Order: sequence, then structure tokens, then C-alpha cells
Amino acid sequence: MSVTTERVAVIGSGPAGLMAAEVISGAGIGVDIYEAMPSAGRKFLMAGKSGLNISHIGSERDFGARYRDPDARLCDPIARFGPDQVIAWMAGLGMPAHVGPTGRIFPRSMKASPLLRAWLARLGSRGVHLHLKHRWTGWDEVGRLLFSTPDGSKSVEAPASVFALGGASWRRLGSDGTWAEPFAEAGIGLAPFRASNCGFRVDWSDRIRQEFAGAPVKPVRLSAGGQSTREEFVVTAAGVESGGVYTLSAALRDELEAKGAATLWLDLLPDLSEAEIARRLAAASPKQSRTNRLRKALKLTGVKVALLYECAPEAALDTPEGMAGAIKALPVRLTGTAPMDQAISTDGGVRWEALDAHLMLKKRPGCFCAGEMIDWDARTGGYLITGCLATGKAAGEGVLAWLGADRERKSGADESSAKS
Ligand SMILES: Cc1cc2nc3c(=O)[nH]c(=O)nc-3n(C[C@H](O)[C@H](O)[C@H](O)COP(=O)(O)OP(=O)(O)OC[C@H]3O[C@@H](n4cnc5c(N)ncnc54)[C@H](O)[C@@H]3O)c2cc1C
Repeated sequence: MSVTTERVAVIGSGPAGLMAAEVISGAGIGVDIYEAMPSAGRKFLMAGKSGLNISHIGSERDFGARYRDPDARLCDPIARFGPDQVIAWMAGLGMPAHVGPTGRIFPRSMKASPLLRAWLARLGSRGVHLHLKHRWTGWDEVGRLLFSTPDGSKSVEAPASVFALGGASWRRLGSDGTWAEPFAEAGIGLAPFRASNCGFRVDWSDRIRQEFAGAPVKPVRLSAGGQSTREEFVVTAAGVESGGVYTLSAALRDELEAKGAATLWLDLLPDLSEAEIARRLAAASPKQSRTNRLRKALKLTGVKVALLYECAPEAALDTPEGMAGAIKALPVRLTGTAPMDQAISTDGGVRWEALDAHLMLKKRPGCFCAGEMIDWDARTGGYLITGCLATGKAAGEGVLAWLGADRERKSGADESSAKS
């Protein structure tokens, strides 16, 4: 089936695609959203499963600094659609914001599903059509969009299109990165996908694997590659994940890529100085077992003690000073990243050089990109979704500018042919 339409095609129904659809339909232009999965926004819904952290309070400068190697084409959209605008936009959908103690912004309902429902309803009321089970497979020789659908293949000729196809993790939710193949075939510059905000592998002993998999470690300070964060993390059977591990994941991943191994440094008692820890241990009765001294003198128990015994050099545990040093700087050797499909996000994707200032593909005039499929990266904490919303808005605005310019080009051509 072949369709020629005046409606703009948005491909992908995550936050980036829906925001692009909102901007374009808000200008009175028809929009068709094409989505490979049987329902919309599955990864967005998963992000909201234990609280949708959609943005983060902070000055514009602090906020922008949370993006790794940011490009102006990311910073400018975020400066125009940052935390304040996210809060106002949610309120417009009847979803007031809740700001957590560390500045994280959530919808008050915490979940993503009421927000997504309200958003889809508003888009529907503007005449936006959602075509589910429509997988984009590439362009044909004249630039039409090709889809595989339950009714067979379909080609669509649209005046403009926005690609918002996501990264390459959690493929069961639709973000499988297979779009990279037709993009590469079209000669569009792509950076390889890499796991980001991901867990890491550790060769734990059976004791840690069997007794402490799933245990949260807190309070704790984590350091790697000159960066440091005070956030909890979780020990898994295969390694470490969550919280502070995600925050330091880019530094750890870079160290792994450079050296084949990386070290995550833990401060197991971030509220006590090394000298104080040594003093308390030295004052404890030598008749007590090591484990009892740690418990009584320092209230150090459970997973923290297990990590200390697992990762400290054996000789360090013989003296109060050695033990204090190990508690304040405990090296956890990482052997690799957890599988990319389990990562919260991926970096890589469409290179900035492939896009113009309006996020339009230089090699494909009229085709715009938004969201995680572009090669930018951020830590968790709401920065990812805000980046997706902001670039979705910028791509939508790019489409409007492109269609306006296109109309002017055509009316100019009509005028000159009428004159001749
Ligand atoms: C467990 C988890 C928790 C997270 N928590 C947070 C959080 O708290 N805060 C935060 O900021 N971020 C969080 N994220 C990350 C966030 O969900 C993503 O960064 C965001 O959803 C990316 O938005 P997007 O619109 O670019 O792409 P996606 O949301 O991935 O959407 C892309 C859409 O495109 C569709 N698609 C892909 N290929 C095709 C094709 N060929 N044809 C048609 N459709 C296609 C997909 O099915 C998908 O629906 C979390 C992620 C996970 C997995």
C-alpha cells in the first residue's frame, strides 16, 4: 500500500516523539505517529514504574552541566525547555509536580501511566493519529517512508518526518536500535551504541552472590575517575548497579575501555574520618572478634562488612589503621559492563555532525531527529527525559520552520511561473 499525505509523520511514541507531535499538531498541522509496538510509550512507562523522575531542579548552568559533552543543539533546546517548563507542561496536562528532597522532579502521581494517558488524550483531541504495529524499515529510492505492518508493507510520502526511535536498550519495550541499519545505509553518520547508566560486573565470591545479591549499600560515597557521589547502590549476583553506580558509569566505562578493568572506590563510613575510625577500632577490646569490633565500635554490619572482607587487601585488616584505610577507600574491581540491553540508556546514535541547527538530517532534507537516538548522554535524575522532551520540541519547531520555508519556496515558484 502506498499513501501520500499532507500530515507530518512522527516515528516513535516515546517522550521525544510525542513532544514533537504536540508541537506540530499545536500549530494546526495534521500528525500521524507510527509506532512499532502494540502500544505507545512503553519505555516511558517502565521509567515511571518506581517513580517517573522527569526532570531536576537546578539553575540553567548546573542543569546543562549534567549532560556529558553537550552540543549547542542539545543545550539550546534544554535552555528553552528545562525544569520550569517541564513543570508547567505537566500542570497543563492536569499533573502537578512533586519535587523531592534532592531536587528530583516527579509527577505527583509518581507513575508515568496517568501522565501518558492524559498526553495521548490531548494529542487525540487535536486529531493526531497513532498507528501501532507500524515498524519503520527504511526509505525507498524516492525518499518515501517504508513500514512493515500487520497488513503488509506500506510506503508513506509525508511533507516532513520526525524520527524519535530511542536508543538500544530494553529491546522488549521497542527501543532496539535496529533503525541504525537503514540510517547507516543512507550514509548518515552514527556513533556506535554503548551502555550508559548501566551496571557493572564483579567476580564476587559465592558468599556475596548467595547472601547479599539485592542488598542496598548505604550510606556510602562512591568514587571513580576523579568523580565522587554520595548515593546508595545495589549489590547484584553479577556485580553492582543503581544510584551512584549509574552516576559514575561513564567514568567507569571509559576506564574499562582504556584498561580492560576499572576500580570503584567505596567509602563505607562517609560520616566518620579515617582517624576517628582508627581510634574507635584501637579502643575496642582485642578479645572481641573482628566482626564484633566492627559492629560495636562502628555499627558496621551486613553487606558492608561482607564487602570489606571481600575487597580489602588481607594485610589491611590486621591493624586499626589498615582497617580504617580500607573502610574509607575500598577498591571494588569491575571486570566489565552489564549487558547493554539492561542499561537505563545508551549513548551513540546519530552524530551531531549529521544534523543541522534544527535537528534536520543534512542528508535527508525534511527528516528530523529527536531524543535518545541522537549521540548525547546524561546521568539519571530526570536529565534523560528532559533532554528527550527538549529535543522533541526543537525537532517539532524545526518541522514548522521547514514547512513554512517550503510553502514560501513553492509560492515563490508559482509567482515566477505565473509571471513568465
Ligand atoms: C528502567 C528504566 C528507568 C528509567 N528511568 C528514568 C528516569 O527516572 N528518568 C529519566 O530521565 N529517564 C529514565 N529512563 C530513560 C528514559 O526512559 C529514556 O531515556 C527515554 O524513554 C527515551 O525517550 P525517546 O523518546 O528518545 O525513546 P524511547 O522512549 O525509547 O521511544 C522510542 C520509541 O520508538 C519505537 N521504535 C523504535 N524503533 C522503531 C521503528 N523502527 N519503527 C517504529 N517505531 C520504533 C519504540 O518502540 C519506542 O516506543 C529510564 C529507562 C529505563 C529502561
